[in-house]
Amino acid sequence: TRELAETDPAVFAAINAELDRQQSTLEMIASENFAPLAVMQAQGSVLTNKYAEGYPGRRYYGGCEHVDVIEQLAIDRIKDLFGAEYANVQPHSGAQANAAAMSALLKPGDTILGLDLAHGGHLTHGMRLNFSGQLYNAVAYHVGADDHRVDMAEVERLAQEHKPQLIVAGWSAYPRQLDFAEFRRIADSVGAYLMVDMAHFAGLVAAGLHPSPVPHAHVVTSTTHKTLGGPRGGIILATKDLAKKFNSSVFPGQQGGPLEHVIAAKAVAFKLAAEPEFRERQERTLAGARLLANRLLADDARAAGINVVSGGTEVHLVLVDLRDSELDGKQAEDRLHAIGITVNRNAVPFDPRPPMISSGVRIGTPALAARGFDEDDFAEVADIIAAALHPVLDDAQLDRLRERVARLAASRPLYPNLSEDV
Ligand code: PLP
Repeated sequence: TRELAETDPAVFAAINAELDRQQSTLEMIASENFAPLAVMQAQGSVLTNKYAEGYPGRRYYGGCEHVDVIEQLAIDRIKDLFGAEYANVQPHSGAQANAAAMSALLKPGDTILGLDLAHGGHLTHGMRLNFSGQLYNAVAYHVGADDHRVDMAEVERLAQEHKPQLIVAGWSAYPRQLDFAEFRRIADSVGAYLMVDMAHFAGLVAAGLHPSPVPHAHVVTSTTHKTLGGPRGGIILATKDLAKKFNSSVFPGQQGGPLEHVIAAKAVAFKLAAEPEFRERQERTLAGARLLANRLLADDARAAGINVVSGGTEVHLVLVDLRDSELDGKQAEDRLHAIGITVNRNAVPFDPRPPMISSGVRIGTPALAARGFDEDDFAEVADIIAAALHPVLDDAQLDRLRERVARLAASRPLYPNLSEDV
């Protein structure tokens, strides 16, 4: 229908401009993805209108018989997907899932131990200005200077020294898998809870292509919109014995009415994540990231001052290390933007440049894999990026790279069934 176009042409026009941007450029922000139309349809439904404080079967509002069905489907599907005993699908976002998980297990002033933001951690893992750094005594662990892997000896040393009540394992910009069993051993040795925030790699876990934290952690949190490919939102998974704590921490602890339209969209995404096509897409996601890392480690790229944090990747992203390049992270982000590739600049471990400039870019493959990119496509993307990150390029070279990007985008149409009517 033309409702939006007629009611609010300004918003309608901006949404369509965004659709065109998504279709005509290459989205390589590692935390982004393209939700299927079915997911967006559920989210844009009449469920927008419904209040449903409480949980299925135990609501504080009338008329919840249908949203109960939907929320229970989402709960059952996510429990099945990850083999979890308990799930809460109400957190409005990943940050809220983490806030609820922490407030269920901690008192203000307790100590948490998480990966330093500057070494790939997330704001909610103890950053000074975030609730997690304000409410709790946050201590940070790091990656090693040589191998760029989480330094488990340091984790153990800091755990012994600070006796945290909670250890957080998880990351936003880290190209390797974590050793969840070792984290649990260290947590147990000091009587701490282990929380794994799998926001970034949940889709890989769901596909069976990354070790699952569920058997090891007391609580696992995630977003639903990154590799998992669903609507923007959060979830909490745990063992049954902690169910009551987490339920009351989400509602009424952190939130009021759940977003049942988003929960419906989560349910659809969880159904899709259990299908073979989803696994195949995650395989292409990983293959694309590996191809990109290898291309950026080739001699010509190394000679241009390009390097790759940790020397490769085991997940859906590559952290490009430009510490040896004249091109800084900000310039690299702008350069890629100019040819139609969207990434974000990112500090690399031990970054000498300030955070607003940085010496890295984080490049992810989930969104392009969702668009159908195969290994040949990713090889072409990797070649384009390697060329684009040379310190000195003239306008003619940039024009040719922009044309190659446009050709790739046109060859893998995004949302081909959506016309200008969003
Ligand atoms: N946890 C991790 C590891 C993340 O990378 C992010 C998002 O970037 C979040 C939590 C927060 O998710 P949201 O942006 O939905 O609050």
